[in-house]
Amino acid sequence: MRYNASVKTQESDILLEWYDVHARDMPWRVPPAARKAGTKPDPYRVWLSEVMLQQTTIATVRDYFERFTTRWPDVNALAAAADADVMGEWAGLGYYARARNLLKCARVVTDTHGGTFPADHATLLSLPGIGPYTAAAISSIAFDLPHAVLDGNVERVMARLYDIHTPLPKAKPELMAKAERLTPATRPGDYAQAVMDLGATICTPKSPACGICPLRDPCQARQRGTAPELPKKLPKKAKPVRHGRVYLGRRGDGAWLLETRPEKGLLGGMLGWPGSDWVDTALPVPESAPPCDADWQVLPGEVRHTFTHFHLILEVMTAEIPPDATPARGHFADPAGFRPSTLPTVMRKAFDLAR
Ligand code: SF4
Repeated sequence: MRYNASVKTQESDILLEWYDVHARDMPWRVPPAARKAGTKPDPYRVWLSEVMLQQTTIATVRDYFERFTTRWPDVNALAAAADADVMGEWAGLGYYARARNLLKCARVVTDTHGGTFPADHATLLSLPGIGPYTAAAISSIAFDLPHAVLDGNVERVMARLYDIHTPLPKAKPELMAKAERLTPATRPGDYAQAVMDLGATICTPKSPACGICPLRDPCQARQRGTAPELPKKLPKKAKPVRHGRVYLGRRGDGAWLLETRPEKGLLGGMLGWPGSDWVDTALPVPESAPPCDADWQVLPGEVRHTFTHFHLILEVMTAEIPPDATPARGHFADPAGFRPSTLPTVMRKAFDLAR
């Protein structure tokens, strides 16, 4: 970590002063005044929020975070939770490997570290689901260690502050070097959150509010008029389209036929409808045997959903399943206990179409 050991940079001073007044209010954050008064952040809440915020907006994460911390207030409680309960609460947040790793990590922290998150970057990096970004964020925000945190907001601020035109992702090492150089030895946790807040509220992607930005004097992109075009990015490849089919069957007693998806793979460990593989071909939909004999009918319409690397179009089949049917796959969910909110979004879309 090559942080500026000459105590503070001018930019970090400016940003910390700005943050003292403008810090965003978040349920996992200790505000700067409370932090100065001695309140320490709870590493469990910092870790949980950082995992949830990967690829997900703050607005979406707030409710999930409140539900998780109400149900599992500390890492030991989460470690003791049933897998299905955690996956069900995570449903809708996407990137489900995060939830599986969340549980694994909670159990390692409980079993190996006595229920206390390790306060050093290298040990944090060894935990399931914690990569360089999350380790830096926890080190900095929870333990006030001088690690630079380079998320999309910080990348944008660094690219503009130094007028860097190398496209992402090639520019990452250069942006990280700049971020590390600016990270101060004092209040590094507040500073990390200050840069993220600046990127989220002032130095926004399309219309940076340079007129009210605390960094407007040193900012090179503002001086040269290049801010709106930075950071540069390599053109994205068009996403392929995949097709598949799901079977939504229900018995006369109201029990839906569901299955828990395999641990490995997309939506791993989540609840879903039995169905075909999803393949990169145009119509027709890939053949797949129904999960049991019934009068399956194709529903009008289709489910469309976009994952990180592809678009998915699902054909939906429905049937009333005979009471004596023995499905070849899946299980019948207790009609009283089934909550559609425990389905991942694509599966909930299929449910909404059938309903
Ligand atoms: S002056 Fe403008 S471009 Fe520069 S950091 Fe501030 S908001 Fe971003």
